[in-house]
Amino acid sequence: MELYQLTVKELSAGIKQKKFSAVEVSRAFLKRIEQHDKQINAFISLNPDCEMAAKRVDEQIARGEDPGFLAGVPIAVKDLFCTKNLRTTAASKMLENFIPPYTATCVARMQTSGAVILGKTNMDEFAMGSSNENSYFGGCRNPWNLEYVAGGSSGGSAAAVAGLFAPVAMGSDTGGSIRQPASFCGLTGIKPTYGRVSRYGMIAFASSLDQPGPMGKTVEDCIYALDGMCGPDDHDSTVSRRAWKPLRGHIKRSTQFKVGLPKEYMVGNVDSEVMSAFVKCIEDMKKAGVEFVDVSLPHSPYAVPVYYMVATSEASSNLSRYDGLRFGFRAKPTEKEWSSLEELYCETRAQGFGTEVKRRILLGTFALSSGYYDAYYAKASKVRNLIRQDFLDVFQSCDLIMAPVTTTPAFKAGARVYDPMRMYLNDIFTTAVNLSGLPGMSVPVGTTQIGLPLGVQIIGPHFAEEQMLSLALAIEDVAGFVGRTANGLQ
Ligand code: GLN
Repeated sequence: MELYQLTVKELSAGIKQKKFSAVEVSRAFLKRIEQHDKQINAFISLNPDCEMAAKRVDEQIARGEDPGFLAGVPIAVKDLFCTKNLRTTAASKMLENFIPPYTATCVARMQTSGAVILGKTNMDEFAMGSSNENSYFGGCRNPWNLEYVAGGSSGGSAAAVAGLFAPVAMGSDTGGSIRQPASFCGLTGIKPTYGRVSRYGMIAFASSLDQPGPMGKTVEDCIYALDGMCGPDDHDSTVSRRAWKPLRGHIKRSTQFKVGLPKEYMVGNVDSEVMSAFVKCIEDMKKAGVEFVDVSLPHSPYAVPVYYMVATSEASSNLSRYDGLRFGFRAKPTEKEWSSLEELYCETRAQGFGTEVKRRILLGTFALSSGYYDAYYAKASKVRNLIRQDFLDVFQSCDLIMAPVTTTPAFKAGARVYDPMRMYLNDIFTTAVNLSGLPGMSVPVGTTQIGLPLGVQIIGPHFAEEQMLSLALAIEDVAGFVGRTANGLQ
């Protein structure tokens, strides 16, 4: 076994027992990145201090101190999270040279537990997209097959783990951006309950939907990462004050659940291989002891339109801070000087943002403008509440819900970039979870005929991560996917 093939638990245990050093581990991953990332483009920046940080962990161990349960574990961090003195771009020209003066709480917590940042991963600009093709730094490819996308928006984080460039990665999920790329790349990806993880230091896209979370090769690796990132934080007033009870080592796989299957999710334009993998998983879990019940989420058809109203409205407000004065990029005047302040704003934003980001700012600004606010944003907020209520009703009669993650497996790079509507519709199974603040996750269960990974989604009631993960461990066991590695890299 090479070091870069080990799990989070194996790495931290091996480092603590001095079987290998943290420096050796980070070198093994950095070497792999150097060898293969040209083909994938998973990283926007590498951390020049990575080896130094690993060395500090080794020194702590040598002194007999405990560096924490993630001792020396290298992590890949989506370039949406601020990292002190390490460039953070949100994959935008607007922040191409932005060096944050502080580190996002959830990243800092991982570091306090011993984790070492390898680098910052590629993503869709400001996390807007489903394929990682909206990045100022170029698209990111799928390690299972280089002609295909890694998914988005946390595509770089997914590709980094699937390509064995990092044992675990941090992503963010506003409407599916952890679960979708996890599913496309054969990984477990978790979007925790809204408020489980601090958003402090995570560049805002849609604040009422954004949530950080982990992506890993196994459910257990993600549990380790969750233990590293969850919990109250005085810097973010939307974080729950409930303490996070560490789950590693405690949580048991279980099939003793009543699982709801939403009838609205069983129809429509779902790819046949996605559907058959989902149905097979249901059959297998039935044999393993799970009880399934049919449930209904009647407002599901509105999830995508409501999501794109709410998300773009919040984005238009959040992104107004990029005005050329306070942050990052500022356009240069064509004449000697600007004719007006407005001209500076307009030129800066016209040149600094990519097409998809501009499309969303326009949409959101329109939805919030006076005269249209009630018809669009206010109405979407009301329907959002109905969507949430559907889930609360369903969870009266079942413990968890299972659903597909996406309508199709990974698609070819370039296939959908010019068809935003089609791209948006890919979010049909994921956005309702964010609109409702629920925890959701993707677990890999198999591959298509041509070898592209397929995942299933588990959705839980608010703060029911533990049940969700117990079922995920059982699915992981039965599916037998763990250990299969992406074979697109030569
Ligand atoms: N695909 C969705 C979008 O483009 C979700 C993005 C996300 O979760 N960050 O908005």
